[in-house]
Amino acid sequence: MQDSIYTIPISEVFEPKCGCPICTMRNTLEDRCIDYIMGAAMMEPDVRIETNKTGFCKEHFDMMMKKRNRLSLALMLESHLAELNAKIMDAKSLGNLLDKTARAKKVSKINSSCYVCDKIDWAMERQLATIYRLYETERSFRELYAAQEYFCLPHYELLCSQAASHLNKKYVGEFIKTTTALTVNCLEGLSRDVSHFCKMFDYRNNGDDADWGNSRDSIERAVTFLTSREPK
Ligand SMILES: [Zn+2]
Ligand SMILES: [Zn+2]
Repeated sequence: MQDSIYTIPISEVFEPKCGCPICTMRNTLEDRCIDYIMGAAMMEPDVRIETNKTGFCKEHFDMMMKKRNRLSLALMLESHLAELNAKIMDAKSLGNLLDKTARAKKVSKINSSCYVCDKIDWAMERQLATIYRLYETERSFRELYAAQEYFCLPHYELLCSQAASHLNKKYVGEFIKTTTALTVNCLEGLSRDVSHFCKMFDYRNNGDDADWGNSRDSIERAVTFLTSREPK
């Protein structure tokens, strides 16, 4: 059951043609993972063994804090902190944290690891493989791909950097060209809107009839495009 929650039909994220479809995919995987570990997985010791080892990043702690289920988070933290205390930060290790010992490496690892990030990376890898396969085998999917609103910059890099190793040579050039065109088109629109936003602060534009055009939310849209995350 656990693996099936990390599989999303590709058509579900590409059909709406709204925003970056890879962001939609990542957001769905993220929601499912967080709901799972804070709900059904509370009874599954193997998930807790993992979360005890990895912990979570700030972004995913924030998402969990926003859920109603504080007890789930407290129980995960209780055993994560206990493991950290018993296995890594015990008194003997404290003198060694600045050298290259195995314990120092463990502290460094726990500072940079996150159960949710790991799961998303793993699931995205499989989802991307499906995207490349569909691109190669289905003309209707190539058309759907080219009809997307845009790809954000981090996902542009993700899609293009793996294209050569996943796609048949015949499709690599076309795939990168299409992906680049969608990303550049979005970037150009954002540049215009942000410039327009800046001009609106000119004293000549402060009347009631000032025309903001599409620029009012241009900062939010630019941050989303550049980071793949909507600003909070
Ligand atoms: Zn994206
Ligand atoms: Zn994370």
